[in-house]
Amino acid sequence: MSADTRRQKAERIRHLLDTEGDAVHENTQVFNEGRYESTANLDDYDELKNEARAIKEDAIERLPELVDQVTEAVEANGGSVYVADDAADANRYIEEVVDGRDVVKSKSMTSEEIEVNESLEARGGDVWETDLAEFVLQVADEAPSHIVAPAIHKSREEIATLFNEVFDPEEPLETAEELTRFAREYLGEKILDAEVGMTGANFVTADTGTLALVTSEGNARKCVQATDTHVAVAGVEKLVPSVEDLQPFVELIGRSGTGQDITSYVSLFTPPSDSPTFGGNELESGDDREFHLVLIDNGRMEMREDDQLRETLYCIRCSACANSCANFQHVGGHAFGGETYSGGIATGWEAGVHGEDSAAEFNDLCTGCSRCVNQCPVNIDIPWINTVVRDRINRGKDGDLDFLVEGLTPDEEPGGVDLQKRLFGNFDTLAKLGSAFAPLSNWAARTGPARSLLERTLGVDSRRELPEFERESLVEWFEKRGPRVGRDEARRQVALYPDAYTNYVRTERGKAAVRVLEALDIRVDVPPAGESGRAPLSQGMVSTAQSNANAVYDAIAPAIAAGHDVVVIEPSDLAMFHREYERLLPEDDYAALQEHSYELMEYVYGLLENGADIDVLPGGDDERIAYHSHCQQRTLDLEPYTVAVLEDCGFDVTTSDVECCGMAGSFGYKSEYYELSVDVGETLVDQFTTEDTADRTVVASGTSCLEQLDALLTRRPAHPVRLLDTQ
Ligand code: SF4
Repeated sequence: MSADTRRQKAERIRHLLDTEGDAVHENTQVFNEGRYESTANLDDYDELKNEARAIKEDAIERLPELVDQVTEAVEANGGSVYVADDAADANRYIEEVVDGRDVVKSKSMTSEEIEVNESLEARGGDVWETDLAEFVLQVADEAPSHIVAPAIHKSREEIATLFNEVFDPEEPLETAEELTRFAREYLGEKILDAEVGMTGANFVTADTGTLALVTSEGNARKCVQATDTHVAVAGVEKLVPSVEDLQPFVELIGRSGTGQDITSYVSLFTPPSDSPTFGGNELESGDDREFHLVLIDNGRMEMREDDQLRETLYCIRCSACANSCANFQHVGGHAFGGETYSGGIATGWEAGVHGEDSAAEFNDLCTGCSRCVNQCPVNIDIPWINTVVRDRINRGKDGDLDFLVEGLTPDEEPGGVDLQKRLFGNFDTLAKLGSAFAPLSNWAARTGPARSLLERTLGVDSRRELPEFERESLVEWFEKRGPRVGRDEARRQVALYPDAYTNYVRTERGKAAVRVLEALDIRVDVPPAGESGRAPLSQGMVSTAQSNANAVYDAIAPAIAAGHDVVVIEPSDLAMFHREYERLLPEDDYAALQEHSYELMEYVYGLLENGADIDVLPGGDDERIAYHSHCQQRTLDLEPYTVAVLEDCGFDVTTSDVECCGMAGSFGYKSEYYELSVDVGETLVDQFTTEDTADRTVVASGTSCLEQLDALLTRRPAHPVRLLDTQ
C-alpha cells in the first residue's frame, strides 16, 4: 500500500470517527448489553447454538437437494421458484415479474446485494423501502452501515433535519414519535398504492416453502398482504430442511442481534398468501395473489465448495459479530464494510459474492481479537475466515517492491505481500536483530529521520513509541541462570513459553514469571521456542504461521512428552495454542499442546487451589488495582483466574468491561489505523480514570493492552505477575 493510500484511508477513518462513530458506538452498546442479558437468561444457550449450527451444516451439505424440495413445495402451493445465477440474472427475472409496477419492500440485505432497487427504478417503476431505517437511507441516498440496523450511524436529530428538509412538513418534526408517525403515514399510502410487495426471508423451509421473516416493525406483513404480487428474494443459504428447524433460530436471532428475547414480529408465510388484499377502501379477495421465490446463488454455490469460505454460509446475519467488534463500534459499517455487507463476517460475504477486491477494502479492520467468536449464534470462526481471505488478498497482489525482499525475508510467503505486513509478520526476526544490536538499534530506530522513513515506506506511525529491545533475551538470561528448584523437590515441572515480546522486549515479566513459579515449588525451564505464528497470522501470512507453529511444537514437544506443563504469559499466544493451532498443526500435536498448556495466572490459580502456599507470594495489602483482561483471554474464559489470584493475595480488584484496548498487536502501529486505535483505547482510558479507578494501579495481561495503556495513561501499567513477584 502506498503512503498516499494510507493517508487517504486514515482521512476516511478520521472523518467517520468524527461524523458517525458516536452514534454507532452508543447504539451497538445497547445491542450488546441486551445480548449479554438476554443470552444469560437462557439455560441452554450453548445447546441452542450447537443445534443451530448442526442445522446449518446439514442444510448447506444438502443444499441442491433442498433447492429441489422447496421448488416442489412452492409450486404445489401455487407459487414459482427461480434460482438466479447472479445479480443480473435475478434482476432480469424480477423486472419481468414487476413489469414497471410500483414496489414496496421490507428490509432485505440480499436485495441490496443484487441492487434490485436501482434495476427496477431504471425500468421506470417506483420502489419504496418500508423499513423505517431503510426509508431514512433511501431519503438520504446513503448505503446501510449495519446489516440489521442500517441507519445506526444516524442520530434522531440528523433524521429530523433530513425529513424536515426533504418533506417540508407543516410542523417541523422533532421527536422519535413524530418522525415514526410521519414515516408510517407516508409509507402507508405507498403500500396501499403499490401492486408488488417484495420481502427478503431470514429462513425458507424446504419441506413446506414457508418463509420466516423477523422484523421490528411488521412492515413485511403489510407489503405481502396489501399487494397482488409477492416477490421474495433470498440467498440459497437461507434454506433449512423443515419448519421444526426454525425453533433454535427464532430463539437466537433476536437475542444475538438486537438483544431482544424475541423480535417484535416473527412472521411465517407459506405463500401465495390468500388473505384479503386492499382495493381502495375495500377489502378484496387475495385468492389470486402471485408468489415468486427468487433464490440467489451469486457465488454461494462456489462458497459451498470452498472449505474455508463455506462456514460463511451458516451465517444468519444477526450482526452480533459487528456489535461486539471494538473497531466496528467506533467507525461503523461505512468503513468496516464492502459493497453490501459490514462487520466481522462481511469479509466472507464480500469475498464470496462480490470478490476479494471488495473484501480487501476493509478486511484489515478485523484485528483477529476473537471477541466475536463466542457471540456468534452458529459458532462461526469469523477471525479465521478474515485471516484466510487476507492471505488470499496478499497472494493475489503483485508487489511493487518485491525485488527488494525476494529471497531475503525469513517467511514462507510468495511475492506480493505488502511490505508493512511483511515487517510486522516477521516480528520475531526483527526482534532478534533488534536485541542483538541493542542499545544501538533502539537509539537508531528512535531518531527523527528513521521514524519518518519508517512511516513513509512501511506505514509505521511516528506517533507510536517503538518497542525497546533488551540486549539479553529471556532465554539467554535463563540459560545463564538455570533452574532454581530441584527435580526432587518440585511440585511440577513447567516449560515457560518465551513469546517473542517477552523474550526480547518485556523480559522483566518473563523473569517475574520464573520467580513466581519457583516460589510455588515449580521447576521451570525456558526452552528456546520461536514466535508462535500469531504475528504472521495477523497479517494473513498463513504459511509462515504454520511453519512457526510447527517449530514451536518441535521445541516444546520434549517437555510435553516428559509430562511437563506448558505455561504461557501472553494470552494471544495461548489462544494460538488452543484455537488456531487446530488448523495449523497435525491433529495429535495440536491435541497434546492444547491439553498441556495454560495461561500463567490460570496456572498459578491451579497451584494455589491444589495446596501451594499462598503466603510465599507478596500480599496485596488491599492495594487498589484496575485490571484489563486481554480479548483472547476473555474468549477463552480465563479472565476470572487472574482476578481470583489477585484477590486471594489481598488486592482490591476492579475490571474493565471494554471489548478491546484498540492496540491489537501491530494494528495500532499502522499509520492508517493509528487514530482508530487510539479512539478505541480512549474507552478503556475513560474506565480507568473515573473517581473510583483514577488512583488504582493499572494491570493488564496482554502485551498490546500494556503498550496501549502505557501510551494513553499517565500511570505505567504492569503485567499481573509483577505484583506477585518476590523480587
Ligand atoms: S457471523 Fe455469526 S455473529 Fe456474525 S452476523 Fe453471522 S451469524 Fe451473526
